Amino acid sequence: MICTNNYIRPLKVLLFAVITLFLFSEAHIPKTKPKGVKTIVIDAGHGGKDPGCNGSVHNEKTVALGIALKLGELIEKNMPDVKVIYTRKTDEFVELEERAQIANRNNADLFISIHCNAASNYAVFKDKNGKVHYKTYKDKKVKIHKVEVHNPKPFGSATYVMGISNEKGKLNTAKRENASMLLEDNYQKTYNGFDPQSDEAYIIMSLWTGAFVGQSADLASKIQSEYTKKAGRVDKGVQRQSIWVLWRTAMPSILTEVGFLTNPEEEKFLGSEKGQKYMASALFRAVRSYKDENEGVSKKYDDDLEKEEPLVNENLSKGNVNDVEQDSSSIANTANEELYNGFLKEADDFWKAKKYEDAQLKYEKCNELKPEERYPLARVEECKKKIAEQKSSLSVEEQQKKELKTKYNTLIASADKLVAQKNWNAAAIQYQQATELMPEEIYPKEKLKEIDAVITAEKQRLKEKEEKYLKEKIKHNQEKARLAAKKHAADSLAKIQKQKADTIPPKAKDIVTNYKDKTPKKDTVQKIKNNNTPQSKPGVAFKVQFAMSETEPNLKSDKYKSIEDVGFYKAGNVFKLTSGNFAEPNDAINLQHKMKETYKDCFVIALKNNQRIDFKEAVKQISNNK
Ligand SMILES: [Zn+2]
Repeated sequence: MICTNNYIRPLKVLLFAVITLFLFSEAHIPKTKPKGVKTIVIDAGHGGKDPGCNGSVHNEKTVALGIALKLGELIEKNMPDVKVIYTRKTDEFVELEERAQIANRNNADLFISIHCNAASNYAVFKDKNGKVHYKTYKDKKVKIHKVEVHNPKPFGSATYVMGISNEKGKLNTAKRENASMLLEDNYQKTYNGFDPQSDEAYIIMSLWTGAFVGQSADLASKIQSEYTKKAGRVDKGVQRQSIWVLWRTAMPSILTEVGFLTNPEEEKFLGSEKGQKYMASALFRAVRSYKDENEGVSKKYDDDLEKEEPLVNENLSKGNVNDVEQDSSSIANTANEELYNGFLKEADDFWKAKKYEDAQLKYEKCNELKPEERYPLARVEECKKKIAEQKSSLSVEEQQKKELKTKYNTLIASADKLVAQKNWNAAAIQYQQATELMPEEIYPKEKLKEIDAVITAEKQRLKEKEEKYLKEKIKHNQEKARLAAKKHAADSLAKIQKQKADTIPPKAKDIVTNYKDKTPKKDTVQKIKNNNTPQSKPGVAFKVQFAMSETEPNLKSDKYKSIEDVGFYKAGNVFKLTSGNFAEPNDAINLQHKMKETYKDCFVIALKNNQRIDFKEAVKQISNNK
């Protein structure tokens, strides 16, 4: 938290600030104070959005509030005639000017501001050659800053009173504590343009003439004495700095830095309940002693607070605190110098070797470290010129070659990518182009051969695949045709059999087994019904035999009148009467069915030249004749 901002304000603004602040400070022209301590304002530093400084676990606003509340409690308990006023009793943000004005408005007799200290170093590291370097970072505006880290070494307690010794570089505490105002919404207006980070701003405070500096210093030294005697603190003494709240309060006022939160031992102590109790009781005893002296009371105390067991601080053995602080800052300065000189030497060596690009980088590093040095910056510009010259000195031919090579490389990279994607044809085109650009290069030619082999193999594979497919297709179609034919045949047969079943009477089935496709047609049946002429061909005739007689029958007799085509044939001495005369056996079968109603035992016979022959033989004969 050491502030190093050397911001210099324009003189006009500074003068304005001086005048306005001078007028402004009229408000607290010292007045004569009646003796006695009746009102004490206790100011716990920071709060709310302003955490103050941070240790690794504890922060300043919390530690300060803890001690402030404990101190207030002790005063209220042990000094019934004193009114305690807090600037804050909770974790809230209170403006610096308001803290001072709380004390002024209440006409306080004492103002006690409680804070914690912090120390930091620039982060450094050693390279492999043992050189020390700064760690840096770039902010949003690309400005380079050195990285700050906690410096764990400094420790000890100090108490400040308003002072005029505002030497440059010795304003750390004032700058840090006054910086709280930067967090205030209206700080420019409230503080009349006062810049707490600027050394120059503190000139105005040197115009201060303190009426209460003696009393303030008296209280401060009592506090320091209690810290060391009872709380085991290391004494960093009473110090004077231009701290805003001390400047603006019109009464004896002190600001105490109870210890360093950046020191692990001290942070642990100050963050603990016990540590805060010890610090509060030390402050209380100092206030009580101050009050008694101020009021002319001479009293010896024998209470628990007075008899408090003194603490021993192990840090005491570690020597002078101020030395430690100086030590850490001198390390940083030495590191800076070493780093700069190291870069500068490297840069000059590169320059001599005409390695201007490397030299430029190193000179730029020097410039970052010491922006005020003109030499590195000048050399950076010279390096840029030299680099440009080197570039233009390349012959036109070399330039062309370089361009050609660039084009070639681009094509090869692209073609290789296409090969990876198996995009052979596109890759081949680009390798071909590359070959034309640089015919002496072997690589694209080899690649073209490879691609050719791949494409040929691929074509062969496709051809084989196609042939196999065609073969299978033909086979498939043949099988399909075979199955269709088979199905058609089966369907036809089924159809025929169905028609037969519809027309052929059950008993005649056997007869027609060998009589394919000769099923009786409907018109034939019709003809029979209509008593048309017999259709028997010479030779074989099919008739229905229905009766027999031993005498020759008279066919004209009335008893045969209703018989269709009545006739007879002689077998031995017997006359056998027939009906019908058909060329087709089925016609005879149909007639038989009709006649069965009258002639129950009638049956179909086959005749050849009016002599009975075997029926099956007759059917065979007529089918052969067709
Ligand atoms: Zn503080």
